[in-house]
Amino acid sequence: MTDKNEMHQKRQQRLKEAVDERISKANEQRGILIVNTGNGKGKTTAAFGTLTRALGHNKKGGVVQFIKGLWENGEKNLLEPLGVEFHVMATGFTWETQDKASDTLACQEVWRKAKQMLANSQLDLVILDEITYMITYGYLDLEELLIALKNRPNHQTVIITGRACHRDIIELADTVTEMRPIKHAFDAGIKAQKGIDW
Ligand code: ATP
Ligand code: MG
Repeated sequence: MTDKNEMHQKRQQRLKEAVDERISKANEQRGILIVNTGNGKGKTTAAFGTLTRALGHNKKGGVVQFIKGLWENGEKNLLEPLGVEFHVMATGFTWETQDKASDTLACQEVWRKAKQMLANSQLDLVILDEITYMITYGYLDLEELLIALKNRPNHQTVIITGRACHRDIIELADTVTEMRPIKHAFDAGIKAQKGIDW
């Protein structure tokens, strides 16, 4: 065997031992709280990617979206007919609204659905898409969200998405990823696209 080959083999063996040790230590099994935050693209799509995985293993999932998109929602079109419970904030908040009272009402209405999901032991995965803004704008009480998250069924995983996630949510979370923009097509004047951006 060449020296290079032997060195490579040794390195891989050490890596394998380190990984095996970490795997043998990770033996707790429970649902986790995942936060996808930051300014880069991919927070919502990563959440739906995880839901696709869960559904592929016959698990049950639910989605609550706290910002009404301006366009038809591709994920909802696909997933609702497959039996995924899906709620989108009915009226009020988009990036453009300015009426705090009606936005708060719309938020509270959809939050009721979210709370039911967080208490439903039939659900393995719950996505709370763009919920971070509800805390930032004061439409939803932080304590109430934290309590619902802490009291959820033990096996249930929750994914929270949105920019500028409150530190108390990050502290409670098990897995937190910050999407960092390196480039975004929009900045080069390319329009948001159906099937790619919504
Ligand atoms: P996606 O839904 O594509 O995963 P996201 O959830 O990370 O994006 P949001 O802030 O929720 O990001 O994005 C809302 C919309 O803005 C989406 O259509 C998304 O593609 C687009 N977008 C995301 N990041 C950026 C960015 N850095 N600049 C411009 N537009 C963005
Ligand atoms: Mg998003």
